[in-house]
Amino acid sequence: MNYQQILEEIAAETADEAGRGQLATYIPELAKVPPDRFGIHLATLDGGQFAFGDAEIPFSIQSIVKVLAVAMAYGKLGERLWQRVGVEPSGTAFNSLVQLEYEKGIPRNPLINAGAIVIADVLLDLLDDPETEFIAFVRKMAADETISYNLQVAEGEKATGFRNAAMANLLKSFGNIRNDVNRVLDFYFLSCSIEMSCRQLAQSFLPFANHGQLPGTTEKVFTISQTKRLNALMQTCGFYDEAGEFTFKVGLPGKSGVGGGIAAVCPKQFAVAVWSPLLNPKGNSHRGMKALELLTTKTGFSVF
Ligand code: GLU
Repeated sequence: MNYQQILEEIAAETADEAGRGQLATYIPELAKVPPDRFGIHLATLDGGQFAFGDAEIPFSIQSIVKVLAVAMAYGKLGERLWQRVGVEPSGTAFNSLVQLEYEKGIPRNPLINAGAIVIADVLLDLLDDPETEFIAFVRKMAADETISYNLQVAEGEKATGFRNAAMANLLKSFGNIRNDVNRVLDFYFLSCSIEMSCRQLAQSFLPFANHGQLPGTTEKVFTISQTKRLNALMQTCGFYDEAGEFTFKVGLPGKSGVGGGIAAVCPKQFAVAVWSPLLNPKGNSHRGMKALELLTTKTGFSVF
């Protein structure tokens, strides 16, 4: 498979899509990102690395981190985790409060904000030094020690994150947050502020394509069954209320973020990350979705 040529074709064939969509402006730092950035990086399980465009520029991974956070919590806590957060697609926006009230403080899944806030609370209980241990886990997944939080992004989001604060308080009122609400929100915002390039992001998702094993090592971060379940969550819940559309058009498990990134996994083959900051009305990268649709069309690889 000539991945390099395919990535170049994808960039050319989606060039007309550049300029379509909106930046996420509700987090102040995200409003400053140059809207015309486009990068894509594909990492294969046998060590192949293929890239095009702005694939080395770190960007705010935002909600993509939710996959890494739930993966860490699941790896440590096992099946007990699902007593506090569900595994059903929500069909509502990532920051919806309505469902949480109906469902008595048990978020639909860990990839919407309410679920990720519960996961942040779980990690605070499980880890001695959560900020340090979580970034160490992300660095290990990506095999890259340079990945960091962006404190300015986290602070900016904290100053404007009223809806997430409402959600955390509602969760607390139902008894599904154990730590201090502000402590949980700070850790949640900090985790969302992690910056990674497409290359680092693709690398960090390779274990999901590799039965939970860090590529090139014998180390397993998750079991085969946990990997299956984490991929299933990405497939059914990874794209806000557009998970069906992404499954229909792309056919890979993945996760998007409001920074315009998408990471996706083709089990036993590759992980891919694409970045283009302008979002469609559902909050997913407009050009990024088109690019991944072309990738599975051209390669013929998808989970279906
Ligand atoms: N930190 C963002 C928020 O909670 C993440 C949103 C996203 O990427 O979906 O609003």
